[in-house]
Amino acid sequence: MSPSIRPLVAGNWKMNGLSADLEELKAMATGFEEACGGAVDGLICTPATLIERAARTVEGQGLSVGGEDCHAKESGAHTGDVSAEMIADCGASHIIVGHSERRTDHGESSQTVAEKAKAVWRGGLVAIICVGETEAQRKAGETLEVLDEQIAGSVPGNATADNMVVAYEPVWAIGTGLTPTVDDVAEAHAHIRARLVERLGEHGEAVRILYGGSVKPSNAAELMAVDNVNGALIGGASLKAQDFLGIAATY
Ligand code: PGA
Repeated sequence: MSPSIRPLVAGNWKMNGLSADLEELKAMATGFEEACGGAVDGLICTPATLIERAARTVEGQGLSVGGEDCHAKESGAHTGDVSAEMIADCGASHIIVGHSERRTDHGESSQTVAEKAKAVWRGGLVAIICVGETEAQRKAGETLEVLDEQIAGSVPGNATADNMVVAYEPVWAIGTGLTPTVDDVAEAHAHIRARLVERLGEHGEAVRILYGGSVKPSNAAELMAVDNVNGALIGGASLKAQDFLGIAATY
C-alpha cells in the first residue's frame, strides 16, 4: 500500500444489474463509510441504463457512480453508442475504458482506448484505463512488454493523477478465481508505476494503480497491501453488498 495515495475501491457490474439491484447498491452506499472507516473512495460502475438511477441512489452517501465504456465522439450518427457527455449528464464521476472484455469483444486497440480516455476528459470525468496480459502472454514471459505497449498506446501524454486511474487486470485472472502471486502483482505494479513516472513525471508518482481480477473479501487484504496497489477494480464481488463491503472493510 502507498500511504500517500488515497485508495479507490471500484466495482464493475459489467452487463449485470436491473432496477431491482439498486437495493443492493443502496446497501453498499449506506454501509461504505462505516466499512472502510472513511479510509478509501468508493465507486460502482454500472451499465449505462442504470447510471442515472444509481447516481440518485448513492447521492449524499460515501459512493460515486461510473460508466463502463463510452464512444470517443461527443454526439452524432453512432447508433447504439453513448458518449462521455451523456454519462456525465447521468451523474457519473468516472468511466472505465479499455477493459479487456472490450479489447477482446469489440476489437478495441490501445489507440481507440486513448481516444476514449480523451473523450472521458472532454466530458469532465476521470478515466479508468485498464491494462493486462493474457494467459498466453504471461506464459511466454511477455507480461512487462505487453504492459509497456498498452501503457504507451492507451495513456494519453496529458494524463494526470486527477483525471486518470490505471487498472492492472491480468486477463487470465478476470472472473476465474485465479490471482497472480503477491510477488507478481508487486512486479507488475512497480513496472506500471515506473512507466507512468517516465511518461507523466510527478503525476505518474501520484496516479492510482488498481489491481483487478478475482478480488474478493478473502484475498483483498493481501492484494491491497502490495506496494503500488492503490485499490481494486472488482467485477463479480461488486454485485453483492456483503462482498463489496467486505473488501472495503479490509482497509
Ligand atoms: P472479477 O472482474 O473481479 O470478476 O474477476 C474484474 C474486472 O473485470 O474488472
